[in-house]
Amino acid sequence: MAVRPDRPRPWFPEPTSLSRAGREEMEIGVRARRRRLRRLAIGLAGGGLTVLAAAFTWALVPAQGRVGPNSYPVRVLCARCEYAETRRVGPQDAFPLVCSRCRERAAHELWLCLSCKRTFVPDPNAGDRACPRCGSTRVGTAVARP
Ligand SMILES: [Zn+2]
Ligand SMILES: [Zn+2]
Repeated sequence: MAVRPDRPRPWFPEPTSLSRAGREEMEIGVRARRRRLRRLAIGLAGGGLTVLAAAFTWALVPAQGRVGPNSYPVRVLCARCEYAETRRVGPQDAFPLVCSRCRERAAHELWLCLSCKRTFVPDPNAGDRACPRCGSTRVGTAVARP
């Protein structure tokens, strides 16, 4: 648009007189901010996907081979072959475990009497878990949780 020479120049800069370069800079700034936001959103989504993928992988691992952060060591005794071993179990494991030697689901959790140090497999039908030798109720799983 041509400015007629007799027209007084406005003392304030007209919107159109804002230099094209300046406006472009502003637009670039806005675009850059938007791009940064988009990148942040993509990053967050990516992080979420990674967590999801980890959860999926976790769910696909068979329960037997799983050693989770909530797992803890226990001492077990096989009721069939009397093989005693230390195993790591998690909240998803159900007793008795499968014995590592005879493959029978007969490995029961061993308990330890703190009074006489005897290890024993508690009677699942008993209400209170007490030591079969001294009758003490100061008993706990044979391998303490960390
Ligand atoms: Zn066994
Ligand atoms: Zn005892």
